[in-house]
Amino acid sequence: MGNHVWVRFPPPAPFNPARPVKFCSHCGQPVTLRAIEGDHLPRYVCDGCGTVHYQNPKLVVGCVPEYEGKILLCRRAIEPRHGYWTIPAGFMENGETTQDGARRESLEEALAEVEIGSLLAVVHVLHADQVHVMFRARLPEPRFGAGAESLEVMLYEESAIPWADIAFRSVEFALRRYFEDRQRGVEGHHFASLDYRRRAP
Ligand code: ZN
Repeated sequence: MGNHVWVRFPPPAPFNPARPVKFCSHCGQPVTLRAIEGDHLPRYVCDGCGTVHYQNPKLVVGCVPEYEGKILLCRRAIEPRHGYWTIPAGFMENGETTQDGARRESLEEALAEVEIGSLLAVVHVLHADQVHVMFRARLPEPRFGAGAESLEVMLYEESAIPWADIAFRSVEFALRRYFEDRQRGVEGHHFASLDYRRRAP
């Protein structure tokens, strides 16, 4: 079900997915990027204790809270994209589910107690080593406010969404699919991959 949209710029080039690491987080000794038998990528290995420092994408979880047809958006009080609008979303914590995380972020950023609904979008943000997982959500009461990471929080009619000032492409993707599905009376799952990698190979 759903579709998968690819957005690439520039076209993919030979690419080293490792982010630079200098020292071992366990023992403080220098690390060296090297091949490991049986592994398809080079890894940073500690010269002292031998710990292999794997690097994997981080999960960002969020939701599109709706109250009487309007959508709750937050204006960011932090970088990146300070001053731009987004949905409640943030890094998932250990020990919580994706839905738990989306609910927690709504409480932290928008002081809103939401009910998480169906899966809306999964966006692979390849240049940031992140996967964004976004849900539909219901705001049962119009109670919300600006959390520590928000300048202001507002309910927007679809026709008033500030598209030019949306903070992230993944959020724009999720919002556009949300409104398309709502118009059609369906709740699809949508996939996208954003690839703006510019790191040196
Ligand atoms: Zn070490």
